[in-house]
Amino acid sequence: MVASMTTLIRRTYPLTSRCNSLATIAAIQSQTQLPRESLQHHSSAEGRLRFSGRVFCSESGGEERRSSGCWNCGEKAAFLFCNSCRSIQPVDDSVDYFQIFGLEKKYEIDPGSLEGKYKDWQKKLHPDLVHNKSKKERDYAAEQSAKVTEACRTLTKRLSRAMYIMKLNGVNVNEEETITDPTLLMEIMELRETISEADDSTALNQIRSQVQEKLKHWSDSFVEAFESQRFDDAVKCIQRMTYYERACEEIVKKL
Ligand SMILES: [Zn+2]
Repeated sequence: MVASMTTLIRRTYPLTSRCNSLATIAAIQSQTQLPRESLQHHSSAEGRLRFSGRVFCSESGGEERRSSGCWNCGEKAAFLFCNSCRSIQPVDDSVDYFQIFGLEKKYEIDPGSLEGKYKDWQKKLHPDLVHNKSKKERDYAAEQSAKVTEACRTLTKRLSRAMYIMKLNGVNVNEEETITDPTLLMEIMELRETISEADDSTALNQIRSQVQEKLKHWSDSFVEAFESQRFDDAVKCIQRMTYYERACEEIVKKL
């Protein structure tokens, strides 16, 4: 019974997490198609240890590309562009998404400042502006652009941002982990029914604002759990955020 309900819910709320709240970003995304980086790409056996049934990864042991200096002039390279010779640098995997936008590594961020900084990067890396550069640099620019877009997409939504900051702290969250809490399962089923029965935009918008309140509530609980390093509780908050996020997507599809 529990398993079949979970399957049903999964089918109803397919896994998508895009930052479609920002229209401009969506427009740019269509120009720069990029693969969605898996939040669970730490699959190497090295540096892993089990903790409370979840996989913890150390930050070392990956195949990260770290820049040692500008590929062109050898100066200490800055992110994206070399400050001395202005050549475009390859993606530096040691730079995390928060650093790309000059943000403090904190869950709570100012979405306005993220959007502004995202636009600045995309302007600098726009294909029209780098077309006179060498093939190598154009390729680097495309890679950088994809990374910046993925970074923005990840940090924009509460859920993906929560999962990402957990990952930076060595915790990979499995979104698809089966829910065993019967109260939560019941609530999800009821919510799903309410959404499918709502037949006008007023009703749907009303449900959406209720769901968004819940999302905010669990997001606040996540902050508390995360900041006090109660990672198991933080994972539970993420699990709830996942379902409310999916419910929101379902509502948007019907609107
Ligand atoms: Zn240089």
